[in-house]
Amino acid sequence: MAIWRRCSKRTCMNPRRCLEHLWFDVTYRGTRFRVPVNEFAIPRMDANKQRPIESLEEARDWERVFIGEIKAGRDPRRPRPVQKSSNGAPKDVASFLDAYVERCVTPAALKSVNSTCSRVDVLKKHLGELPLDALEEPDEINRFKSGSDYAKRVELATIHRTLETLRAAMNWGMAQTPPLFRKSPFHRFGVRMNKKGETVRDRRLSREEEKKLLDAALQKMNTPEHQFVGPLLHDRLIGALELCCRRGEMLLIQNKRVNWETFQIGIPGATAKDKENRRIPFNPEGRLAAILERRTKLGPDAYVFGTATGEYQPELQTAWETLRLRAHGIEPRPTRKGAAWNREQALLERHGRGTTARTGGELEQPTPTTSTRIRSLKWSSGVRKQCRPARRSQIGHNAVPGGLKFGCGGTQPPIPTELYVVAA
Ligand SMILES: [Zn+2]
Repeated sequence: MAIWRRCSKRTCMNPRRCLEHLWFDVTYRGTRFRVPVNEFAIPRMDANKQRPIESLEEARDWERVFIGEIKAGRDPRRPRPVQKSSNGAPKDVASFLDAYVERCVTPAALKSVNSTCSRVDVLKKHLGELPLDALEEPDEINRFKSGSDYAKRVELATIHRTLETLRAAMNWGMAQTPPLFRKSPFHRFGVRMNKKGETVRDRRLSREEEKKLLDAALQKMNTPEHQFVGPLLHDRLIGALELCCRRGEMLLIQNKRVNWETFQIGIPGATAKDKENRRIPFNPEGRLAAILERRTKLGPDAYVFGTATGEYQPELQTAWETLRLRAHGIEPRPTRKGAAWNREQALLERHGRGTTARTGGELEQPTPTTSTRIRSLKWSSGVRKQCRPARRSQIGHNAVPGGLKFGCGGTQPPIPTELYVVAA
């Protein structure tokens, strides 16, 4: 028995049953530990349940803890270190999202970390000041989804991607100890994301527009002014239409990657953005085969879509923009200053037309900044996956020019007649 009662007869009214002056007194391996029971027990109780012990039996329970601590090598006379469990808990949505990025997104080192961070910025801007538990109810999120200026500005698909980021963050929050949320608002009766409502990307390059581009490449761009880049551009256009791979991958294809027995082009993982080895079939009777054959004589290391001598050609943005202007009968300006004008024209032509079609003549949307518009010219990977030939049986289908779909980066309105082939 290691519990002793040490009452003073002057202060204790009932020294026989007193629970105030109990002491633990344990000697373990030569060291004597003496601590008042309440002094030991109260700091170890739950934060909201701290009170002096109420029975001798309770004291015996704590005695076992006391001995356990001593045997575990701790000194029960020392005050317990304060636990910092509630210290780091975020109070508002902005700090919660910061914690999510810092402790979950960044350590995961995903390739999509930048887009996640930009979505988090949007969420912080619109929901950041809310208390954390406001996210448990669907109201605020639904308001953001349908009523915010952001929702009016971007496509539904973009809103959905942003909300998916929020959902992932909240799932992470619910998995923390202690959980930051009791429940998620993403369910059937809460925040819903109707994927069917998203704009289906269906931008086909019409036969007519394709011909326009190819003709412009062969005729208007095959001049000394354009350093006779036209035929090469023509080949790259066809490569883009037939292969449906990333621009960077396409430009890296060397003759040795072309397999004339299986009629496939190997894209080694090292050159592919997603590090995935794959093979793209081509039609041995098609127009791409003719190009591949013509380039064969440059040797196995030559680049199929490189320069005239088979050197690697990393960039074709300027030539592509010029081609698009010329195909639409716009004369590009040659000087350096003119390059900006050219780009502007290409973009205005594209966006002006699309927005006009959507709003019936009024340019309602603010003109996008140059950087977003240039980004929107990128060949999106979603499109690539969408139109990548999955089976050899699809070769014939893909060889049909109108059978391919092309889209834009996501935040731009769909423009049905826009050409969108070998952009940056
Ligand atoms: Zn007492």
